[in-house]
Amino acid sequence: MKVKVLASAEDSMRLLLEEVEPAYANALRRVLVSDVPKMAIEDVEFHLGPIRADDGKEYESVGPLFDEMIAHRLGLVPIPTDLALYNHREDCPTCHGEGCPNCTIIYSVNKRGPGVVTSADLEPIGDAKLRPKDSKIPIVKLGDGQAMLIYATAVLGSGKDHAKWQSTHGVGYRYYPILKAGSKTLDALDPSVPFCESHMQSTSTEEEETLSAKAVLLASLDILAKRFSELATQATALA
Ligand SMILES: [Zn+2]
Repeated sequence: MKVKVLASAEDSMRLLLEEVEPAYANALRRVLVSDVPKMAIEDVEFHLGPIRADDGKEYESVGPLFDEMIAHRLGLVPIPTDLALYNHREDCPTCHGEGCPNCTIIYSVNKRGPGVVTSADLEPIGDAKLRPKDSKIPIVKLGDGQAMLIYATAVLGSGKDHAKWQSTHGVGYRYYPILKAGSKTLDALDPSVPFCESHMQSTSTEEEETLSAKAVLLASLDILAKRFSELATQATALA
């Protein structure tokens, strides 16, 4: 399979796949959607009871949404992911699942109402670079006297377990067109030929602001190569 990058940006990519059956393009699409891991919030610990502010005012740890709904909304916030650094927590060689900076990010939220808690209120404990890049995602609106004090833990996961760990969206492929005008055949990639987006055999990917398009593509190719070599080993063992 030959892969040519037709267009590449930080959060999207368009590829031309040559000498390949649609099954391989689909295998790549499936790995991109469900197997490339990323970080997302998995556990949220809520403070219960009254919270006294520095000025003496007392707040109650309540809000208009159930804790489960708040935890779900926090789970969907895109968390910055460095695939070279993070391990799956259960196979982390440093901590063996206990939780450490190589497999876990802990955020705190300490907000008093009235006001809207947003993704900007997620304060990473440790490196400030781990702050969510999109700061405008609303989580919950607190009324006067209401407050939210939580600790949220993000871990690595993949899209096949939950959509919050999906590192790409809008991935698709199409056949490459044969363009004919009378007896003349035109090359679809010739810049002088008008471009028709709906007739390219290409895989286009769009990433959230947590991983670059290139990082996701490279990770997906690694996963595919590993799987094919495992399959080849198993097939050889059977022969
Ligand atoms: Zn660890």
